Amino acid sequence: NSPASSSGGATAAAAALDAAALRADFPLLSGRPAEDPLIYLDSAATAQRPQAVIDAEIDYLVRANAAVHRGAHMLAADATELFEDARATVAGFVGAEAEQLVWTSGATAGVNLVAYAIGNATAGRGAPAGTRFALRPGDEIVVTESEHHANLIPWQELAARTGAVLRHIPVREDGTLDLDAAADLLGPRTRIVAFPHVSNVLGIVNPVDRIVALAREAGALTVLDACQSAPHLPLDLPATGVDLAVFSGHKMLGPNAIGGLYGRADVLDALPPFLTGGSMITTVTLDQAEYLPPPQRFEAGTQPVSQAIGLAAAVRYLARVGMPAVHAHESALERRMRDGLREIPGIRLLGDAEGVDRVALASFEVEGVHAHDAGQFLDSRGIAVRVGHHCAAPLHRRFGMTASVRASAALYTTDADVDAFLDAVAGIRPFFG
Ligand code: PLP
Repeated sequence: NSPASSSGGATAAAAALDAAALRADFPLLSGRPAEDPLIYLDSAATAQRPQAVIDAEIDYLVRANAAVHRGAHMLAADATELFEDARATVAGFVGAEAEQLVWTSGATAGVNLVAYAIGNATAGRGAPAGTRFALRPGDEIVVTESEHHANLIPWQELAARTGAVLRHIPVREDGTLDLDAAADLLGPRTRIVAFPHVSNVLGIVNPVDRIVALAREAGALTVLDACQSAPHLPLDLPATGVDLAVFSGHKMLGPNAIGGLYGRADVLDALPPFLTGGSMITTVTLDQAEYLPPPQRFEAGTQPVSQAIGLAAAVRYLARVGMPAVHAHESALERRMRDGLREIPGIRLLGDAEGVDRVALASFEVEGVHAHDAGQFLDSRGIAVRVGHHCAAPLHRRFGMTASVRASAALYTTDADVDAFLDAVAGIRPFFG
């Protein structure tokens, strides 16, 4: 099951990416009957899986299923080796070392892990050097107005538990972050800056380096939500300078219920655990326990082994296609989609900034037609999009709306998919009169 392209320089690889050929690797897309075609433009919600990912999980379950990091038998040793190899592979995909990658059940779990660990540090619990992260009443946690709820509500909860104050970097009308306001906002009280690499509504690639520089100047911890960048851009998390970052496997061609928390070694070392129990300890008495170093300190309980192995297969697939090629392909799709939508009367695009780097994602409203009606109309034409607030209600409120339609592509999306989508969108207003 080999991808229809190989990695190389950005331009050469981009020219080589053949999305129509790649589709053969994705059974859900290639197996559709001709009379019932599917144009899948909901990859930002969850991506389709290549056969290589499905095979990797099945192969593990058929040949090597066992509990990892325990058990004296050969099968357990094989399972442990496959599981830890998967960790090294996925860590390598984001430029990190294996010890810097904590398995989570997804980005939501990753942000909650960090927020609860900081809450524990504040309570003086479970700290190796936990006071480094302790919050005092009046300390500030900064997010952006464009946050997915997964990178917002855990911080609201942490603020409520600790007396910290939650503030936000505003989004400009064109969808870009207001970095002048950020420069004014961040200061000595700022302890945490949590922000998305790419908003799941706007698709704009945020300037991570500038935000990290502002946060560093303020002495704040940075937490990057890389959910919508990891599947679409070459990513070197250590090079970005962020302290912590989260991503979700199911958005990057991998299985559900697996994701990663990346951390700088010194940050993970100093962070107390969130969940406690088996698999994360060295010695335990009835009164107390000693904890393992990262990443195991953060991985209490039985591990998602087949999912980790599936995610490793997914990132190997992405790496073989080549992330520069993926980004180039998706950038071209994005321009086609946005240019086409701009030409359709009555379409209002959210965050339509010019000259910014983007992933292939566009959110819009259709004048006079509710997003849910628009979504159903597209579905009746075999086109799957997302409608609603996409777990970013505050951002929709900022744009004066409660819901939008979102079309999002992936490496298997073709120009023909985008053209069929644009044709159908042009028919929405005439249909609803
Ligand atoms: N952050 C962003 C930007 C997302 O798009 C999503 C998923 O939609 C999440 C976080 C949450 O991911 P998960 O539900 O996989 O934990």
